[in-house]
Amino acid sequence: MDTTSIGRPDNDFIQDVLGLGGEDLKKCYQCAACTSACSLSTEQNGFPRKEMLMAQWGMKDRTIEDPGPWLCYYCGDCSKVCPRKANPGETMMALRRYLTSYYDWTGLSRRMYRSGIWEIGFLLLMAAVVIALFTLPHGFGFGLLARSGPAPLTHVMLDRFAPVAIAHRADQILALFLAVFLLSNAARMFFFLTRGRKIPVGLYFTYLPVFALHGLTQIRWKSCGSAETTKNWLRHLFLVTGYATMFLLVVIFLPWFQVQNNSFHWTSFLGYYATAVLLIATTWILIDRVRKQDEIYRYSHISDWLFPILLFLTALSGILLNVLRLMDLPMPTYVLYTVHWAIAAPMLIVEVPFGKWAHLIYRPLAIYLAAVRNKAEELSAEKKVDLSEMVA
Ligand code: SF4
Ligand code: SF4
Repeated sequence: MDTTSIGRPDNDFIQDVLGLGGEDLKKCYQCAACTSACSLSTEQNGFPRKEMLMAQWGMKDRTIEDPGPWLCYYCGDCSKVCPRKANPGETMMALRRYLTSYYDWTGLSRRMYRSGIWEIGFLLLMAAVVIALFTLPHGFGFGLLARSGPAPLTHVMLDRFAPVAIAHRADQILALFLAVFLLSNAARMFFFLTRGRKIPVGLYFTYLPVFALHGLTQIRWKSCGSAETTKNWLRHLFLVTGYATMFLLVVIFLPWFQVQNNSFHWTSFLGYYATAVLLIATTWILIDRVRKQDEIYRYSHISDWLFPILLFLTALSGILLNVLRLMDLPMPTYVLYTVHWAIAAPMLIVEVPFGKWAHLIYRPLAIYLAAVRNKAEELSAEKKVDLSEMVA
């Protein structure tokens, strides 16, 4: 790495990385054993020693242009070989937290990563808004804005409590909200990773399949090679199928999925699949995080806990809600429907664009842009060789 123009160290950046879980980086003395041990590190994109150096020297501008932290899948092999116990795997995680908060233009992510009180407070505020939508009097009593009058208490009539047309529109507005913030933050990341580089436009199209492949499969994780990382990759893939299915059910298929009374629609099978996957995968992840045996779970930031806990509670409340609905218990069903959405909506609003969940776009984008940058550098080097041959 060229260190001739590093400028003044950014002390705020150093303090941020230390505070986000990278406190051991001070012990690093740049032996590079970690980079040698990392099976994902390559000649063109070598890490994590370079990132340790950039964090130690306060090189914020270099760091925000670096795809390295997102190319790491936290197998922990680097931390195992580090002679100084400088924990490079966790520093890479701290850098991902830092970058997530830096890409976010609203500043909310930064506040949430710096303070658990902010993150929990924001979640509670969003939950209060959802509860108010269901409970505040608006014309006639309770229900989602109670537009069709109070929901009956003789039988479960979810369509009176949460008219499917209104609920569906609310879900679509929520999806639009998530897309706007997530994509605008991803656009900032795109800008930081490409600024000042001469990249032929055609390369962005050529490498789009790389983005799709890694966005859908996270297959790079499997390349870490150990049985432990293969297990983590498969479990993560399983979890993604669960929440992607649930997302499609509520944003696109809600008019069929939100069945009335004890009626049934085939989309319910997808709902059962999604809730079962979410329950099993999040329980398994939380157990591993408590046991701290895998390197990836040895250190936990509050955001690492909130994400699986909220997913678990969303799935659990969804199952219980369905049981109450089938038992035809009106008031408990309406209450649990409200609780279910008071967990699910804040989780999506807070965690997708501003929190840990944002990695769903940052990782594949980094892998894609790293491939584009590498190819552009190769082409530029070839041109230079051609020119020097002509001169000779
Ligand atoms: S993190 Fe550890 S292994 Fe890596 S360069 Fe620093 S001291 Fe060496
Ligand atoms: S945690 Fe694994 S993938 Fe990440 S830098 Fe270390 S060895 Fe490489």
